Formats: sequence, C-alpha cells, structure tokens
Amino acid sequence: MDIKITKTTQPKAKPDGNNLSFGSVFTDHMLLIDYEEGQGWKDARIIPYQDICLNPAACVLHYGVEVFEGMKAYNTPDGRLLLFRPEANARRLNSSGERLLIPELPVETFMKGLKALVALDREWVPTRPDQSLYIRPFTFATEAHLGVSRSHSYTFCIILSPVGAYYPEGLDPVKIFVEDDFSRSVKGGTGYIKCGGNYAGSLAAQYKAKQYGYSQVLWLDGAEKKYIDEVGTMNVMFVIGDEVLTPELTGTILPGITRDSVLTLLRDWGVKTTERRIPLNELLDAAKKGRLREAFGVGTAAVISPIGEFNISGERFRVGNGGIGLLSQKIYNVLTDIQWGRAEDKYGWTVEIK
Ligand SMILES: *Cc1c(COP(=O)(O)O)cnc(C)c1O
Repeated sequence: MDIKITKTTQPKAKPDGNNLSFGSVFTDHMLLIDYEEGQGWKDARIIPYQDICLNPAACVLHYGVEVFEGMKAYNTPDGRLLLFRPEANARRLNSSGERLLIPELPVETFMKGLKALVALDREWVPTRPDQSLYIRPFTFATEAHLGVSRSHSYTFCIILSPVGAYYPEGLDPVKIFVEDDFSRSVKGGTGYIKCGGNYAGSLAAQYKAKQYGYSQVLWLDGAEKKYIDEVGTMNVMFVIGDEVLTPELTGTILPGITRDSVLTLLRDWGVKTTERRIPLNELLDAAKKGRLREAFGVGTAAVISPIGEFNISGERFRVGNGGIGLLSQKIYNVLTDIQWGRAEDKYGWTVEIK
C-alpha cells in the first residue's frame, strides 16, 4: 500500500524539552488509513495534524467501537531512532479489534505507516535522557448508523506526542488503592483487549483512589474480588521470597508487552517466575510476614513503577521498606538501556527507523 504524504506548510514550534508533560502536545503530522467493506483498507495518507470530521451517527460515538495501542520511539545517544517490539503492538491491535469485530489491519501496513510517520516527524523525538516520542495508534468505527451492529467502515489513525522522562528524579514508588467495589473486567468480557470502553469504565475508580491520595487502582477479579488482576494501566508483579509472581493471562487482564519483556529478562537471569492466580490474601499474608519484598507495575509509559504501599479496605500495607527494590531497579536499568540503545539488544526487540 502506497502512502500519500502531504507535508504541513506551517510547522509548529517544538515544545520546551524541560517541561514536557504526557500526551498534550502533538507533532506536525498524522497517519490515516480508511476501511470500507468490500474495498478493504485504502487511502493511506499522512497529512498535517488536524481535527477529524465525523458523522454524528458514527458508531464510535455511540457504542464505543474503538481499540488503541501505546508505544514509543527512542533517540539513542549515537543518533539512531528506535522502536521497541512494534510488531507486537500491531498484532495486539488486531487481537483487540477481533473482539469488537474490527477488520484486521495487516501488520506490514501498520509497520509501513508507523515508520513513515515517525521518520517524517523525527525531529519531534526528544533527545534528553529518558525522554521519548509516545505513539498512539487507534482504530474506530465510522459508519453512520444507530443500529447496534457491526460497522462496515473504520479509520486507523496514528498520532505522536513528545513526552518527558517518567521519572525526572529517578524511580519513585507509588501508593496503590485496592479497588474492592467497582470491577474492571470479568471472564468473557473485554479485559484482555486495549479498548477505550475499558478505560471509560475505570475512571470512577481511578477518581476515587485519587481522592484518597492514591495514584493508581489495583483491580481484583470481577467475579469474586479475591484475586489480583492488574493496576490501572499496568500489569503487576510481586517479589515474594525469591520468586517473582504475576497474574496469569486468563482473559481478564491485558497481555502487556512490557510484562512479557520483563518475564523474559527474569528467566534469562535465572530468577524463578510464576504466572498464576494470586489471592489477595496470600499477598497480605506475605506482607505481614515480611516476605513481600517488592511489588511493581510494568507498562510502556513508566516501564517499571515500584509500589511502596497498598491500601486494602482502609488498611495500609508497606511493601519491603517502602523504597525501590533491587530487582525493580535492575529491570528498569536493563530494559531502558535496551530501549534507548545504550546497551546491546540481544533479544532483537528494537527496530531502527532509518
Ligand atoms: C496498555 C496496558 C498495559 C501495559 O501494556 P504494555 O504493552 O506493557 O504497554 C497493561 N494494562 C492495561 C489495562 C493496559 O491498557
């Protein structure tokens, strides 16, 4: 598929690298590819960043038919531009889409559009340590039809946003509120896909946690509220004794690419890792006995987010000494060194954009 490129005639001023926040500044261009039943994906184009025009009856506005991805491009100290496991994002966009009957976008088309867009806006990739270009690919249903049924037309879009270092002053432990009222997902639901609807349903819990002074929610399984699922936008891992535990993928949590990368590193280092259902009680018990040495979230945005404290129904539990665990710090260092091209990538995870 050829991509028609229309460059902007009015390039925007780049943001000040000193105060980059998350996701509020966008680059000069965006990629669009349309889908029409009977014609397939067509009209791939890169155009100046602009508003999108939609029919008010478009499916996405009424029934939330939308899936998305989150990934980053990294500038290396020696001037290369890297992506991290981008095909995994392309494949996950398709498995998310499958659940909402969104047609498959060939991985090659995703990659070609992604590379062309990032290459065109490469001057927007921040160059300071630990800064990156956040990439948001997403697909939404555009058919103008209020009946609840599969849409026959879609748009795939990629937008780009320069983001600052997640930890400007080094890893910083977060406090987590364990949500025992609202549910995020249940077996057979959409918990395993990256769709806007999951986030719409999570906002009230996130807001509640914020009001109590907690930055994130830890979700329990929707059916029994007994087992650990995941944190707001991250998968979660626990170091109990000498073992790293993480909830298994049973369809209620997102199969994170960071989760998979961290498990690969840990196994490579000879650390015992176990994927299984983790009862909240087991965690509490380990915390009380001083065996819960580390807990951390893993996801693209923060890479690793050490957890210093849990609040469970008003009771507060400290993890380890409340600071940053040795393993958390090591995983963070090794993974970010690969992503920012500061260390050799023996896993073949990085893809250079020329
Ligand atoms: C995106 C996301 C993650 C993390 O996935 P990564 O591929 O590691 O970025 C975890 N949980 C949820 C709910 C997510 O949406």
